[in-house]
Amino acid sequence: MPSRFLVIGLFFLALYPAATHAQQPSSRSMDDLNWQEFRQLVPAKIKTVILTVGTLEAHGFINNGADNTVPVGLAHSIAADVNALIAPHIPYGVTDILAPYPGSLRIPEEPFRVYVRAVLVGLVNNGFKNIIILNGHGPQIPILQQLAQDIALEYKVNTIVVNWWILANDITHQVFGEDGGHATNDETAMVQAINPKQVHWELFTGNDMAEALPVPPDAWSAVPFPATMLQYTPGQGIPKDRTQAKAVEYYAKVVAKVKALVLDTLNRWELAGFN
Ligand SMILES: [Zn+2]
Repeated sequence: MPSRFLVIGLFFLALYPAATHAQQPSSRSMDDLNWQEFRQLVPAKIKTVILTVGTLEAHGFINNGADNTVPVGLAHSIAADVNALIAPHIPYGVTDILAPYPGSLRIPEEPFRVYVRAVLVGLVNNGFKNIIILNGHGPQIPILQQLAQDIALEYKVNTIVVNWWILANDITHQVFGEDGGHATNDETAMVQAINPKQVHWELFTGNDMAEALPVPPDAWSAVPFPATMLQYTPGQGIPKDRTQAKAVEYYAKVVAKVKALVLDTLNRWELAGFN
């Protein structure tokens, strides 16, 4: 009965998009998943988790939470393509020389270390094999790198720490024609691409070249640091192009580079038998 086969064929055809859809988790955020769905996903279908870490810190004329905004934005931009879940964000970090500025907040190193370690162990205990730490804040790099190494060696899992602004330094030069810095062209563009409302151009005086200072040289140090925009190269990094198109162009290139690094690392771990 050809018509019967046709009906059966159409039935499976109709099921196909639903079946394909069922391969995808209902959400990439651990916050959103129910334990029963999570149990089916991890580790059978998803072995990788992204943990974003930032801080609250004064940032020139962009939001105090820029170091939170950027890694969270990056995580959501790459999660599906690297087949990862996204762990809840860690928003309090080790703010240092800018901590006295209004709305900034510093967690001392020791409780930060203990807390982040407990989160990492919790992710391992939930079955994740690969942990991608996307960091938004420079001064906590050594702590995160040490923790990531300790967890990888102690629990036989795979970890990587990505500091996007260092990874993307060549893109900063390519897109803006000069070096970046804290709360300067690179970070401003990332925040603007994710949420333009967080860039307060009305606070951008036009005299910011005088307000920004190079990253502290060894010759002197001051706390509070007497500027909230810090240049990696003296005289460079002050935003000149305010257009959304430029910000989106920069963001897309940074996303592509972070994604490529993560995919390549996951692939190499798998080839080496670590996954
Ligand atoms: Zn920042």
